[in-house]
Amino acid sequence: MNLLDGKLVSAKIKEDIKKEAAAFTAQSGRKPHLVAILVGNDGGSETYVASKMRNCELVGFESTNIRYDVDVTEDELIAKIEEINQDPNIDGLIVQLPLPKHIDPEKITETIDHRKDVDGFHPINLGRMQRNLPCFIPATPYGIMLMLEHYGIDTAGKKAVVVGRSNIVGSPMSILLARNSNPGNCTVTLTHSRTANLKEEVLAADIIVAAIGRKHFVTADMVKEGAVVIDVGINREESTETKSGFKLYGDVDFEEVSKKSSWITPVPGGVGLMTIVGLLKNTLEAAKGTVYPK
Ligand code: NDP
Repeated sequence: MNLLDGKLVSAKIKEDIKKEAAAFTAQSGRKPHLVAILVGNDGGSETYVASKMRNCELVGFESTNIRYDVDVTEDELIAKIEEINQDPNIDGLIVQLPLPKHIDPEKITETIDHRKDVDGFHPINLGRMQRNLPCFIPATPYGIMLMLEHYGIDTAGKKAVVVGRSNIVGSPMSILLARNSNPGNCTVTLTHSRTANLKEEVLAADIIVAAIGRKHFVTADMVKEGAVVIDVGINREESTETKSGFKLYGDVDFEEVSKKSSWITPVPGGVGLMTIVGLLKNTLEAAKGTVYPK
């Protein structure tokens, strides 16, 4: 078993981003600027946004966290997004999901100017990604592709099975792995809760991407000898063993699956750290205007 080490790869890529951010700042007189909107006080969302903000500071970006109470109206949120869309000193905008039930996430996503949509969730970015055109790629799949690239994992002609079809992870991941690119050129099967014979599908995979949201869902008996295993899952459980009071578990039973896999990502220390890198890279690109010229 070899580790796909998110700690190591993310640190290396963040060093490169830091240099590029410094060059951008020297040339333009301002730092790349990311705004994150957080609604309510969901524990997981608080942690993710805090980590995104901290990483922005680390690489020399400006970051602003705008917080709303859980009862903010959809109209108020939309008005704020429209204001940010017009602000030339803001390069990237993310609205942390999930949102409260009375707010339509689709409407919010489509209100964000696609040129500032550094989460890559806007239909324009998703459509452009599918057509292999310059775009912002959703941060988690982007981070996974950077990880595969870093380790030189041979993906061409391989059978990839993605478990989970969410708009933010599974679906875009399946598109990226199938694209005519490197990494890419896989033959992809996208699976979900209605898939028949899921175990057989996963067993046939050379590359498995698990994005389900259930602790240790992928067990060793579902994995072919030598498979590459990417674990996207972050399942929080209360624990007295950690300072935070929580322990994180992946969607893959790392202990047993790592005995069969050729490469595997740990949780924590894998895809989560690469997601941050995906977001930082998109924000830098937004500032520089390389995806959508300013
Ligand atoms: P969603 O809940 O949006 O999607 C889960 C997917 O898993 C759905 O497509 C669902 O199928 C499928 N699924 C659920 N149960 C089964 C089952 N028994 N068999 C097969 N498929 C099943 O989750 P996300 O994609 O947002 O997140 C997945 C996991 O990844 C979570 O743990 C989340 O916390 C984590 N995550 C981690 C990130 C990171 O940076 N590392 C970033 C984003 C998410 P169906 O569509 O049929 O309901």
